[in-house]
Amino acid sequence: MVHLSLNGRTLGSGEVLNLLEKEAVSFMEGPANDNRSPKNPEKAYASPFLGVAAGDDVYWDNIAQAAGERHWRPLEAFKKAFPQARTAESELSVVVIVCPQTEKTSRDQKASLGFPAERWIRSRFYHNETVGALCDHLARYLMDRGYLAMVPDHLKDFAVYPHERFQLASTWSHRHAAFVAGQGTFGLCDALITKVGKAHRLGTVIVNCPLPVNPRPYTQTYEYCLFFSKGSCLKCVKRCPVGALSPGGHDKSLCDGFLNSTKPVIAKKYPDLDGAYGCGLCQANVPCALKVPGH
Ligand code: SF4
Ligand code: SF4
Repeated sequence: MVHLSLNGRTLGSGEVLNLLEKEAVSFMEGPANDNRSPKNPEKAYASPFLGVAAGDDVYWDNIAQAAGERHWRPLEAFKKAFPQARTAESELSVVVIVCPQTEKTSRDQKASLGFPAERWIRSRFYHNETVGALCDHLARYLMDRGYLAMVPDHLKDFAVYPHERFQLASTWSHRHAAFVAGQGTFGLCDALITKVGKAHRLGTVIVNCPLPVNPRPYTQTYEYCLFFSKGSCLKCVKRCPVGALSPGGHDKSLCDGFLNSTKPVIAKKYPDLDGAYGCGLCQANVPCALKVPGH
């Protein structure tokens, strides 16, 4: 087992986590956290925070049962990066990085009807250059200190594939990892409702260091969604321009169809964002946009 030390003193796992969170905040104060706007360059995301799930949490079994065999358990993803490592599931931590949208991005998206705000499109388009780069940086930070750390969605085997029950699934899900790490529950639109609501992007790093895990202050998958908890709301349903949301859930095919249709419009409106697509209208101007509703 690797132990970090500072000034000759071995650090506890809580101190390692604090250092990692400070590193994440510091990285996002730097040049990578930029929305790359030719006219109004500014921070793409607000200050990040971290949550941790244990590599041997029983919920990974629940996810594998629901999503099927192709969804990786943490050890499976870890072994793809470090096949020679003799690491037990119980030694792994799944660090979830929550990058909240900025106030300006949330404000613009809230005011948008029928088409997403430019700031929202930008932060999504540059996800890899910001949130993805942050995850790589944190993995490197841990590796430089003797741990083995990796970013599951950066593995070459990472895939999104058709799924009988969920229409689409992936080999690794940041949202499910964040759920396991106590960061929030799902909403009707499938986004994760966290303490900063649904206005965020997520990343994950898996490391062979048992860090302090976050408790899950919920027991149900959709507990923070007003529709599931109180039978009220459905505000996100009204925000969807193509009827992809209903009390029956999220029609990913309709949603994807709309996302794809935004590509040529975005390329025309914002030439530097050629190739970008987006929506997320159901994630703004709703009770769960910026907080857990009722909390
Ligand atoms: S807007 Fe309402 S129904 Fe939709 S996810 Fe949020 S709380 Fe649930
Ligand atoms: S992302 Fe857009 S198209 Fe998809 S469900 Fe939300 S509002 Fe509808």
